Amino acid sequence: MSETYDGIVVGAGPAGISSAIYCQQNGLNTLLLDSKPKTEIGDKVCGEAISKKTVHRVSEKLNIKPPTEGEINTNVEQLVLRTSLPVDHISLPAIGYMVDRYIYGQRLLSDAAEIGVKIQDNTKVVSAIVEDNSVKGLKIRNKHGKNENLYCSIVIDCSGILAAVRTSLPDDFEPLLNKELTKADYASCYREIIELEEDHNLDGKIVLQYEGDIPKPGYIWFFSDGKKKLNCGTGFIKTGKNKEKSVKTIYFKAMEKYYPKGTYKTLDGRGGTVPIRPPLWNAVAPGLIVAGDAAFHADPLTAEGHGPALLAGYYAAKISLKAIRNNNVSTESLWEYNKLIVKNFGNEHARYRILTIALDRLGVKNLEFLLKRKVIKKSDLTSELVTRKESILSLLGRAIRCFPRLHLILIVKKAMSLSKKVDILCESYPESPHIFSEWKDKIEKIYRKLE
Ligand SMILES: Cc1cc2nc3c(=O)[nH]c(=O)nc-3n(C[C@H](O)[C@H](O)[C@H](O)COP(=O)(O)OP(=O)(O)OC[C@H]3O[C@@H](n4cnc5c(N)ncnc54)[C@H](O)[C@@H]3O)c2cc1C
Repeated sequence: MSETYDGIVVGAGPAGISSAIYCQQNGLNTLLLDSKPKTEIGDKVCGEAISKKTVHRVSEKLNIKPPTEGEINTNVEQLVLRTSLPVDHISLPAIGYMVDRYIYGQRLLSDAAEIGVKIQDNTKVVSAIVEDNSVKGLKIRNKHGKNENLYCSIVIDCSGILAAVRTSLPDDFEPLLNKELTKADYASCYREIIELEEDHNLDGKIVLQYEGDIPKPGYIWFFSDGKKKLNCGTGFIKTGKNKEKSVKTIYFKAMEKYYPKGTYKTLDGRGGTVPIRPPLWNAVAPGLIVAGDAAFHADPLTAEGHGPALLAGYYAAKISLKAIRNNNVSTESLWEYNKLIVKNFGNEHARYRILTIALDRLGVKNLEFLLKRKVIKKSDLTSELVTRKESILSLLGRAIRCFPRLHLILIVKKAMSLSKKVDILCESYPESPHIFSEWKDKIEKIYRKLE
């Protein structure tokens, strides 16, 4: 008879590590599984820009070190949205680091091992075990290629975008949980880490460079990773007319304009996948919590998902602990997790999804026009947007500056008004699952209005 755990955490990415550390620190008999060998954990295709605020916040809660020397390549100070215009019209403070994702990921893994988390590598989760309408454990393929069943009180699915547990659930299990992963949910990316011959002069900046011929969300990123080093890449949703397009071809075409072949050395170049939609509005089911990319917790505008994954993993573990102590792992008992996610970053990500759709609808040329004429400003992209009431005078000013392309102001105004509606709905996130379907219909209707 195999051992029964309190919690099994699937995936040793940032979400899984923070979950497992919290569970272990609080006395739960915890198992952390990953399909990779230990030496490859943390090796993830990534932009490697992480937000200081979130990462420090979670590190403090878990009593672990935030990224330190040897893990940090350089500091990040600004997020810049750039078009072909010579001036940076939109640059927002973005305090954080460029990290070596592998070294940092390996250190997080050793933090978990040091406090006694049982780590089983080379172990692939095949599906959830559902009995009596609750997740009771996992079917796994172990390092010897043998199938095995593992049992526990709660599973925390932190398996990244493929969401191994969530997507394996039977259709009729917990109807409030979305078990799908569709092509519209994620962007396929190609990313390089390059070393230039000359300084790039982007110190402290992470730049989203909008280009007309890159499909939505429409940019190539250049993240300063040191004076001559850049982390660059692009990605898009491969649906409709973009289904057959090659991300790698589009990436190299865009690169030619800025850093032509021969002017740099490629240190690493690989494909990856990142969620690009609002978070799962419900990420719990009986015996299960979903966190990180598996619950679409990355920011849909910048793809920043490391900090949110760490935070979501921490909350997932905290709520699991409470539920296990109360001997009740029902959807209702785990519901508080959804509220924490929406309040802490889900609301902001939901607004950024509206912004990415609006930017796509405008197109780069119109975006340049709006920036040049100051019809849209920095504050339109920050949370000031939702707290501020715009006066008639200010609106009139925008309309005058937008002349003669007045139809553009309608797109901008619509996006602003829908952002506010999303924010208000997030503030009234349901207290219990009973009124969730009605609430979800309302929020999904808002997105349909823009798409
Ligand atoms: C191109 C690209 C650029 C990005 N840029 C940034 C950035 O600059 N800043 C930022 O903050 N974020 C960025 N992200 C997003 C960020 O990397 C993710 O949001 C974050 O890693 C999510 O963490 P996670 O723990 O949810 O999942 P992951 O880090 O993906 O970890 C999931 C783990 O689960 C394991 N696993 C998967 N399936 C199974 C299975 N069946 N059984 C057992 N184990 C399994 C995997 O091996 C992996 O170790 C980027 C992503 C991409 C693709």
